[in-house]
Amino acid sequence: MRKKEYSPRKTLIALVFLAVLVFYPYLRAAQQPKNYAFGGETMGTTYNVRVARTRLSKSAVRKLHDDIEELLVDINRQMSTYDPESEISNFNASTETNAFSVSRDFVTVTETALKLAHQSNGAFDPTVMPLVSLWGFGPDSKQAVPTADAIASIRDAIGFMKIRVTGPGSILKTHPSLSLDLNAAAKGYASDRVARLARDRGCPNVFVEIGGEIMALGHSDDEGPWRVSIDRPRRGTLPGDTTQRILEIQNRAVATSGDYRNYYEDQGRVYSHIIDPRSGYPVSNRVASTTVIAADCLTADALATALMVLGPDEGQPVLEAFAPAEAMWIVREGPGRFAEHFSPGFPKN
Ligand code: AMP
Ligand code: MG
Repeated sequence: MRKKEYSPRKTLIALVFLAVLVFYPYLRAAQQPKNYAFGGETMGTTYNVRVARTRLSKSAVRKLHDDIEELLVDINRQMSTYDPESEISNFNASTETNAFSVSRDFVTVTETALKLAHQSNGAFDPTVMPLVSLWGFGPDSKQAVPTADAIASIRDAIGFMKIRVTGPGSILKTHPSLSLDLNAAAKGYASDRVARLARDRGCPNVFVEIGGEIMALGHSDDEGPWRVSIDRPRRGTLPGDTTQRILEIQNRAVATSGDYRNYYEDQGRVYSHIIDPRSGYPVSNRVASTTVIAADCLTADALATALMVLGPDEGQPVLEAFAPAEAMWIVREGPGRFAEHFSPGFPKN
């Protein structure tokens, strides 16, 4: 009988076959789309990112998170009024009325803010900063009701007509004391940029939330639309405590402004951080919150603040200039009682 000869080739083939058999389930699992969630702190608040059904590796998602952090630091360095070294703080401190160099993102947000200021006849005004500080809602300012004289004395330094964009990287003030406040729109802009960064890295399904301002692209984990919970605007509650409505969105932004979280009380009256620049006083029109759905979160965020000031009747025509944006106003009817007002195309599920 002939003895069987040892064949290295056959052994190798057998080993490869065995390896494929053992590792196949792991290889398949590695190729399955996965969901990730991460977040952090930015702009004096928190941010959350959810990436659904992505084939990116764990390390690629880690790199995406690092790059998002870097992007947010950069946007903060431009537009944070809480950072004394930021571009906006330097611009505000300057009394020069010549062109002032700022980043392109800064100009983008300023342009949208100025467009909305024109459309709303100054109900939204990015030069509202001195009033915001006077009422105690700025960096390092004390919350106290100012006198009518104090309000009148700073009126000269306010007015969106006193600021101009002079190029893709420059703006100027025509009044030396004029200062900018982009807090009503910067978080929304940052949400847009983060969502775009994730999409460009190969994540078409991404949900970004920065301080409640949301941009959602593609589908959620369950392949349906992304779901956004809108809070019932009760003073003293935390985000997510009580739900007013659930919105389903896809490739849309959602932003909410309200008077029920950032406010103080004095002699039985409530003063919120949203100021009507036309009167110089915090809004007192019974609107508790405004939610805007728009194609981008910069527009949604700025509009939500503007529509808080304008209310449903004055706000509807302004909203139409930003079509296809839609809005919901929640108006106080009495203690614990609210009424909802909608723009005609707002999705009510
Ligand atoms: P938001 O939370 O997006 O509604 O933005 C509120 C912030 O926008 C405030 O804290 C102020 O810094 C600023 N702000 C307040 N009132 C106005 C206004 N009428 N127009 C533009 N910005 C405003
Ligand atoms: Mg806003």
